[in-house]
Amino acid sequence: MSATELLQDRYGASMMLTYGVPPVALARGQGCTVWDVDGNSYLDLIGGIAVSALGHAHPAIIEAVSRQVGTLAHVSNLFLHERQVELAERLIGLLGTDGRVFLANSGTEANEAALKLVRKAQGPDRPVVVAAEHGFHGRTMGALSVTGKASIREPFGPFGVQATFVPYGDPAALRSAVGADTAAVFLEPTLGEGGIVPAPPGYLKAAREACDEAGALLVLDEIQSGIGRTGEWFAHQKEGVRPDVFTLAKGLGGGLPIGACIGFGRCGSALSKGDHGSTFGGNPVACAAALAVLDTIDKENLLARVKSVGEHLATGIEAIGHPLIAGVRGSGLWLAIALSGTAGTAVAATAQRHGFLVNAVQPDAVRLAPPLILSTAEADSFIAALPGILAAASVVLVGQEGG
Ligand SMILES: *Cc1c(COP(=O)(O)O)cnc(C)c1O
Repeated sequence: MSATELLQDRYGASMMLTYGVPPVALARGQGCTVWDVDGNSYLDLIGGIAVSALGHAHPAIIEAVSRQVGTLAHVSNLFLHERQVELAERLIGLLGTDGRVFLANSGTEANEAALKLVRKAQGPDRPVVVAAEHGFHGRTMGALSVTGKASIREPFGPFGVQATFVPYGDPAALRSAVGADTAAVFLEPTLGEGGIVPAPPGYLKAAREACDEAGALLVLDEIQSGIGRTGEWFAHQKEGVRPDVFTLAKGLGGGLPIGACIGFGRCGSALSKGDHGSTFGGNPVACAAALAVLDTIDKENLLARVKSVGEHLATGIEAIGHPLIAGVRGSGLWLAIALSGTAGTAVAATAQRHGFLVNAVQPDAVRLAPPLILSTAEADSFIAALPGILAAASVVLVGQEGG
């Protein structure tokens, strides 16, 4: 038995199998490379699902986290510490001056804060949140209630939030769903879990207008799209649309768990003392990691790099012209290889055998969300290997059809 198989057996016997038993057991990482417990190496093109913004074992994160954990690891929110204030100031500086920040530990918690904020700001006469089909906002009961994937939502209803779902990217459907009972519209600027599906141009602007006309709030979930993923600090900045509330997590901590809910204008002060809280939220170690991420993106000019390496990667994949590839979606280092059939799982499993970690985000789409430090040479190594991966996956698929 390999070390991986032994660990998988222990996992299978001791863990709740909410993720099944994962195929790879990782032991360590360096830059964009990770190694499994049997010593096999992989180019990490999924980055812990758009989380490991600076790759693995980045010196800036090691330094910031080690220093903080050796100084003060936790204070609770009975007390403040400078790192959380610094982080809030940095985020506000990137976004606009009238924002206020609530710090949480994860994406779903950032969205729970947003939902409570919306309820408090809008009152009980506006019980409805309009959200998108195929949208994803998290697994806790509030965030799940506005998640547009019925198979993961419906087994857990009824919910305390009344959600209405509209097809993503259709401004007319959105306009007709938003009315006097709408508290907020909850959207991702690009569907992440839905398969890296960017909103059509003008969609966010139409959402902003529909909200303004109806007195609803616009909440943008940038948990996956934010922190440089698309080559902008935040994806909505390209559209020139300002949300009322905005959530972040994934890439923010570069691997340390942290989430943020940011309210602008009256939304920044809708939650008052006693309205919300989290023992770990704004933890000094997680804040120190987030500050290191923001500093490094700045210092190493990573936004420009994300754009250029991302374009190089997308162009290179498209140029392969394999019949399994229907196209490439997304921007920056956040791409979906759209497949001509439901080959996602076969392609991801084959890529893994060839030394590349990717993710079948949908049955017909493979997601790439590598560290923002991915080099052109690393991108090229995947482009060079992809024809072989697709050929091997095709053999697997033909075998499945035959059997
Ligand atoms: C991942 C994700 C979440 C949930 O984040 P967790 O940290 O897993 O709770 C919410 N919204 C979007 C857009 C995400 O991609």
